[in-house]
Amino acid sequence: MPMVAWHKITTPKMCGGLGFRDLSKLNMAFNLKCLWKLASNSNALWVQVTRAKYLKEESLWWSTRRTRCTSLWRAIMDARQLIQQHIVWQLGNGAQCQVFGQPWYGLWNLIKPSSTRQRRLTVSELLDSAGGWDNEKLIQELGFATALYISLSIKPPQLHPAREDRIVFSYAKNGQFTLRKAYQLLTPAPAPLVFSTVILKAIWRTGGLLPRIRVFLWKAMHNSLPVGDVLGRRISNTPRPCALCGDQAETVCHALFKCPWARSLWMASSVGLRTEDLPDNASNLLTAVFVDSEENRSRLTANHIWTLWKLRCTEVYEGKKATPQKFIALAASYDRLETVAGLTKGVIGDDTKQLVQGGTVTCVVDGSFSMTDTGGWAYIFTDKNGSMMEYGLQHGIVSSPLHAEIMAMQLALLSASTRGIKDCVFYTDCAALSRVINNSLQPDQLDWRVYQELMNVIYCFKRNPGFACAHISRDHIVLVDDLAKVARNNRIAYVGFTFSSFKPYLL
Ligand SMILES: [Zn+2]
Repeated sequence: MPMVAWHKITTPKMCGGLGFRDLSKLNMAFNLKCLWKLASNSNALWVQVTRAKYLKEESLWWSTRRTRCTSLWRAIMDARQLIQQHIVWQLGNGAQCQVFGQPWYGLWNLIKPSSTRQRRLTVSELLDSAGGWDNEKLIQELGFATALYISLSIKPPQLHPAREDRIVFSYAKNGQFTLRKAYQLLTPAPAPLVFSTVILKAIWRTGGLLPRIRVFLWKAMHNSLPVGDVLGRRISNTPRPCALCGDQAETVCHALFKCPWARSLWMASSVGLRTEDLPDNASNLLTAVFVDSEENRSRLTANHIWTLWKLRCTEVYEGKKATPQKFIALAASYDRLETVAGLTKGVIGDDTKQLVQGGTVTCVVDGSFSMTDTGGWAYIFTDKNGSMMEYGLQHGIVSSPLHAEIMAMQLALLSASTRGIKDCVFYTDCAALSRVINNSLQPDQLDWRVYQELMNVIYCFKRNPGFACAHISRDHIVLVDDLAKVARNNRIAYVGFTFSSFKPYLL
């Protein structure tokens, strides 16, 4: 059951959509790209082969559609009308652009060549040294009628001898054809969906927000969260009451803000939202909530709304009661996670950096464990400047602090091998683990419950000569310790990274 219509999803983000590409238009844009390559006489082998097979001396723009040809060629022929008016020649020395069949002046489509010789004529061949039409040459080459037509109706083009002619995509400001521009050309401006820029900015421009929270807010704005009212109307045409207070129909506004249950949580939160006076329409309400808030506050509010929704769902479907304390702690941990994700510098202190020798990448790992709870573990990769490349966290059931630490190391090693990192120092605050990896302690002298995992880790280090493991004092890895706690306390698994930082390591 689609909750939001496809045309809204393909609308750009700042117009209220999700900015998805329309695949049929994208495909058409690829066809235009092929057409462009042909028109601009690219050196690619496929262009030369295609030209030789289908065009020979004929103009690309005048070639007729064939019945027997490849589907690519058919697509290119059909794509011509979409782009023809946006392709023009910018004349340089006039030696590349042909007189016939090439868009270099407004009425180029009107006169046709009558011989192969005429077909090969270039613009510069018809001009005299003073820059005007060479009338004798015109008559000699083209016959009286065409010569008269040209010399009377076409202004002689101004040539620039220093540069070559080039073909230009006039839809783009710089004349360069790009897929993005072609896609724009094919996508007429969508009818604007009416949303305030306040809410659109809060969703897409608030720094550090987790992607899933952005999409969640977007759904709330479109009134398409699976709340009683929305589901009821779609399934049985009758709105369903709120499962938590039994009151009226459960709309998005009710579930997230107006329900007495939600109101009590909001009251306790640090956001301090008064929900009674807010409007009853989801997008107006969100606008009112985010209006006038600066970035950090917007992020905090967004995290609270998301947390409230998670708690609502666990209470409705699993019957687990939500307390204000849980609400505050969970929202704060999302915020913490995002703050870490937003950090690009200073992940490890300068004093720690000096410990790094040789390796291009540094990784700190840590585990967190408590007897009553599950364990959590995390890692952070940084490059040689100390900038964060990737962090990850996971939670699960483990038997001891050592076990959690080993899980952290395993997760980090897995990520390193996935990314193709060859050279890395892994730091752990667990002395025993680093001693085992560095062969000064036998694995069977440690906890037998983690023997198998430990052997895996050792094997991984043995196989990668560029990997090293070192012990580090706890004070240096506060951040990763924090992440591990976040993972344990709130059972979060997440990987965040910056794409650009991984380029050198990708094959
Ligand atoms: Zn309610």
